[in-house]
Amino acid sequence: MAADSAIKRFLAEEIEVFGGPIYHPGTDDLPKTNEGHSVKHVVRTENEQPGRFASDLTQFNQEISGCQNCALGASRTKFVFGVGDPNADLMLIGEAPGRDEDLRGEPFVGRAGQLLDKILAAIDLNRDEVFIANVLKCRPPNNRDPLPAEVEQCEPYLWHQIELIKPKLIVALGRIAAMTLLKVEDTLKNMRLQEYTYQGVDLRVTYHPAALLRNSNFKRPAWEDFQKIRDLYLAKRKGAGIGV
Ligand code: SF4
Repeated sequence: MAADSAIKRFLAEEIEVFGGPIYHPGTDDLPKTNEGHSVKHVVRTENEQPGRFASDLTQFNQEISGCQNCALGASRTKFVFGVGDPNADLMLIGEAPGRDEDLRGEPFVGRAGQLLDKILAAIDLNRDEVFIANVLKCRPPNNRDPLPAEVEQCEPYLWHQIELIKPKLIVALGRIAAMTLLKVEDTLKNMRLQEYTYQGVDLRVTYHPAALLRNSNFKRPAWEDFQKIRDLYLAKRKGAGIGV
């Protein structure tokens, strides 16, 4: 029945975005990002071997684009390295390529990518000024969540991208990306309230644009997140004497 399936879809979306507890965002009740929370630091446990990968981002892409270190290498259509400014101050990270990304070889394309472009434009940025990537560089079948073994193989590539790009701020897009990066099991609602660092870089968590397409209730809190992200990004650039 149509009503039943609509309810089931709504509940599934709530779980996907907010985790186990169902929480219906009457938007006025949504918690605001709390600047006063303690900062949680996430660093890799093993040091990357110095000189293991190319010291130039384009060369690094070429170096790993044929990777077959996990089973996703065999099922991908295209390897998805990431796009944007190799010296970007802001890096946006999702969990893994989806169908459109796998076909195009570029992260965040299709409707969700177009919405991300609009969000960036609303904070006076475009995708050429930031760097957009995923934790996994190849698409998991049927867009399932990344497996721990896949993350273990692929995450060192992301570490090296961060080392080369040297962003001042990282934004994790969506609950799965955030949990994968931060090695925590938590709700998006909670993670949005926290301040993290990842590989020594400040990290904040917000919605995946696909979630905003599925549930317009998330647009307002997402906009609040991105306003804070913009302020933090500008403050960091100003602190570094950039664009002042
Ligand atoms: S997902 Fe990462 S580790 Fe697996 S094949 Fe693709 S690039 Fe290699």
